[in-house]
Amino acid sequence: MSLIFDEYGRPYIILQEQERKTRIKGLDAIRSNIAAARTLSRTLTTSLGPKGMDKMLQSQDGDVTVTNDGATILKEMDVENQVAKLMVELAQSQDDEIGDGTTGVVVLAGALLEQALILLDRGIHPTRISEGFDKACEVCLDRLEQISQKIEFSEKSYDELVKAAMTTMSSKVVNRYSKQLAEICIKAIFSVADFERKDINLDLIKVEGKVGGTLEDSVLVNGIVLDKDVSHPQMPKAVDNAKICILTCPFEPPKPKTKHKLDIDSVEKYKDLQKAEQEYFRDMVQRVKDSGANVVLCQWGFDDEANHLLYQNGLLAVRWVGGVEIELVAMATHGRIIPRFSEISEKKLGKAGKVREVSLGTTHDHVIFIEDCANSKAVTIFLRGGSKMAVDEAKRSVHDALCQVRNLIRDQRIVYGGGSSEIACSLAVSEFADKVSGVEQYAIRCFADALDAIPSALADNSGLSSLETVGALKAAQTKQQNPRLGVDCLGRGTWDMKEQNVYETLLSKKQQIQLATQLVKMILKIDDVIGPTDALT
Ligand code: ADP
Ligand code: MG
Repeated sequence: MSLIFDEYGRPYIILQEQERKTRIKGLDAIRSNIAAARTLSRTLTTSLGPKGMDKMLQSQDGDVTVTNDGATILKEMDVENQVAKLMVELAQSQDDEIGDGTTGVVVLAGALLEQALILLDRGIHPTRISEGFDKACEVCLDRLEQISQKIEFSEKSYDELVKAAMTTMSSKVVNRYSKQLAEICIKAIFSVADFERKDINLDLIKVEGKVGGTLEDSVLVNGIVLDKDVSHPQMPKAVDNAKICILTCPFEPPKPKTKHKLDIDSVEKYKDLQKAEQEYFRDMVQRVKDSGANVVLCQWGFDDEANHLLYQNGLLAVRWVGGVEIELVAMATHGRIIPRFSEISEKKLGKAGKVREVSLGTTHDHVIFIEDCANSKAVTIFLRGGSKMAVDEAKRSVHDALCQVRNLIRDQRIVYGGGSSEIACSLAVSEFADKVSGVEQYAIRCFADALDAIPSALADNSGLSSLETVGALKAAQTKQQNPRLGVDCLGRGTWDMKEQNVYETLLSKKQQIQLATQLVKMILKIDDVIGPTDALT
């Protein structure tokens, strides 16, 4: 540090080696990284489970999101720290691969890091810890396979799937209507699923929401929903065997591209102009009519005159349909997007069993349903809710449930939830630790302790004493040899998660444990964080 004077004689201090003061290396770096990641996972711990709390997040422009979904909370949070960002990515990978279990994976990673810290303090080398965690992870995966069960379902009887989807939604605000929503999700999946190849394209299921009504009013539409109304109040409100003309050109008089002047100085000239315009519109509408279309969807607006003519010709017309929707309708109805009136032909029309305008409740709101499309596979889950926040959270919950059902069709094996599978794994890992000689034993035992974080959090969040509950559960699982015993979050009076119908997919649980272990190993390997402005010394 040295004191220097500038040209005006003012003193200022130069801190030499400033970087070195802020930059930490070695074990200290690992410790501070762990602290950062722990802060994040602690925030999520209170959101886990059916009694978990929601978080309210405000974005920079003042938008408010209320959610219980781990991946969403982390995405909306403004995370600066690089290591904390890894946690955000962790939740994101669970979301991409599995869809559900995003809170759980972060809580587990946090607990593993906390245990790693204890081991570091005992003087165990990070590499040793990683090796021990790796072995413990293997044991967990084996144990999960052992305790997993296969559930049976078919297109006719899918009770088991309903239960699994309901478990996913039990922790969300939508839980009052979880049965109804679960059934909607399963029907949606069945209508797009390819059971032979066990393949489900979730892109074919659109989840739309509109504020108003209650969640109970949510429906599955066998087609597409447009948040629009017909352009003229007297037009037909429903058309069967619809032939849809999908236009990206407006029903408006052509606009000259260069400046021009038109003198109208007499009544005759005005009438001529009006007539010319009418002629123009009549020609447009006639072309539509001639092609045999009975529904018109247009990306742009209609002139009043044109709108009137469309109505007179008995067409159902919708204007200002968004570009994305236009494409979607074209795909679903096997129609072609028509950019010019001169190109309209019968071959290019889209086909749907029914197009209708539906009015929603008492709010004077309308939407357009395009049902039984030629490409029958597209469906829409149309959600209702009291506020934008509620609808958005419902969308996220439905996404989780859809993923859950998709995963079960891919792999029918489940494990039981409520922390029961974690406790079973924890017991297995502890048992394994006794057989390992060497320093890894400590790491393996700590891994077992970290697994208890999930049932502990579930118990804490439900107002139970976590130590007592987890202790009692472990004893009971060992005594009864029953890996289905978990935390009775809802106070139903039984620990058996089979009786409580709390299901989770084997895929999801395995992925959670694998991802969390990988992340912890990665953080343990980082012993220096170098920022963009740090000089390499
Ligand atoms: P995630 O984002 O990880 O899915 P959730 O908030 O959905 O987090 O909570 C999932 C956890 O809650 C799982 O461990 C699951 O087993 C547990 N759970 C869900 N429903 C119940 C229930 N009715 N009783 C006990 N545990 C439950
Ligand atoms: Mg969940």
